[in-house]
Amino acid sequence: MSSVQIQCTRCKSVFRDRAGRLQDGYSRQCPSCEVVLFFAEDSQHPFIKRAMRSARQVRKELREAEAARLLAPETQAAPPRSFEGRKRSAGRSD
Ligand SMILES: [Zn+2]
Repeated sequence: MSSVQIQCTRCKSVFRDRAGRLQDGYSRQCPSCEVVLFFAEDSQHPFIKRAMRSARQVRKELREAEAARLLAPETQAAPPRSFEGRKRSAGRSD
């Protein structure tokens, strides 16, 4: 789920790598032809560009999912209402 597709610039074979690792300056070997692929933000190669772009997209989605997960418990922990009702009934003036 957090991995992205990479296409080899030499042999055109497709493999996967983790989106978290696929950042500017990252390099890895193609599992089929063993050429070393370099991943740079300013790369001109369409395969590299595509891989960088999808890695960025996956990282963004992971960040948003993480943020949503962190926010969820707070909305559940709403203050209990039973206290309010008790306070109001105790406020008699006689
Ligand atoms: Zn290859």
